[in-house]
Amino acid sequence: MSNIYNLEFKTIENQPKWLDNIMEIAERDGVIYHRKKGNSIIYIKEKERYSCMECDVTINIVERKHNVSYGLPININVEVEEVPYCPNCEEKPNDSGKFIILKKD
Ligand SMILES: [Zn+2]
Repeated sequence: MSNIYNLEFKTIENQPKWLDNIMEIAERDGVIYHRKKGNSIIYIKEKERYSCMECDVTINIVERKHNVSYGLPININVEVEEVPYCPNCEEKPNDSGKFIILKKD
């Protein structure tokens, strides 16, 4: 297991600013690994399936909806954040999002 914990994670680029969970990615020998920033649980991508590195269970997704305003309060978009979690190792994430006003760049 020691190799696993030497994975070098980096933040995935160009993620939306309204995400609660910044995702990180690592790659070794052609295998892709993901984790939530600040989280020790690692998800392995095999074909199109993500599984938990700790317990090998398939990862679940919670859809968390955020109300995002891009400058004007009348202009609100519902944005869906897909929050991954292991049903064995992690608590199910809350599906209620937040209200965010983003300043225009
Ligand atoms: Zn797990």
